[in-house]
Amino acid sequence: MVQTERMTGLINEVRAAGFLTEGHFKFRSGLHSLVLLDRDRLLSDPHLASRMGYAIAKHYFLNRADVVATPSVWGAGLAQWVGYFLEPRRPVVYPTSNMEFSPAAREQLNGKRVLIIDNLVLSGRTIQEFVQAVARAEGMPIGIGALADFSGIEFPIPVFGLLNPSLGIFDPAKCPECAAGNSAVEVGY
Ligand SMILES: [Zn+2]
Repeated sequence: MVQTERMTGLINEVRAAGFLTEGHFKFRSGLHSLVLLDRDRLLSDPHLASRMGYAIAKHYFLNRADVVATPSVWGAGLAQWVGYFLEPRRPVVYPTSNMEFSPAAREQLNGKRVLIIDNLVLSGRTIQEFVQAVARAEGMPIGIGALADFSGIEFPIPVFGLLNPSLGIFDPAKCPECAAGNSAVEVGY
């Protein structure tokens, strides 16, 4: 209950910042949503980014992550906050541009429990590739954290889409807007 109230507070802040649009949206994954996040600006507010990073770190508090890793430049800003709020603080590991790791990064991952952070999980393909890259570097992916997960994919490790409960994400067959005969706007990703 307390958790739910906190979530409501957070989504209200995101809404008040103007980062949400209500409507009927269709993602490349095939899923629909009733709310669209402004992905270009969502992490541009450092205070909100810190709040969202805290909430993701809190979700994974008991999972004993040794390091945080992120596949994208968009995930990097969020990953810094997650690493900052884990207890104790955890380092953040980045890949090179072709989803490989430098020798130093490989050393940081080797034998470690790795919490994977990205801003959004869209098709899920990037995260799937990144999970494999972390495993090749002998890291053990223990979970995925993102602001939202629009993939609809069942990953072999837990996925936490922080804002998912507030976005009205549906399979088209169960989408209330589709049921009402309203056509969906393609978001293009
Ligand atoms: Zn729909």
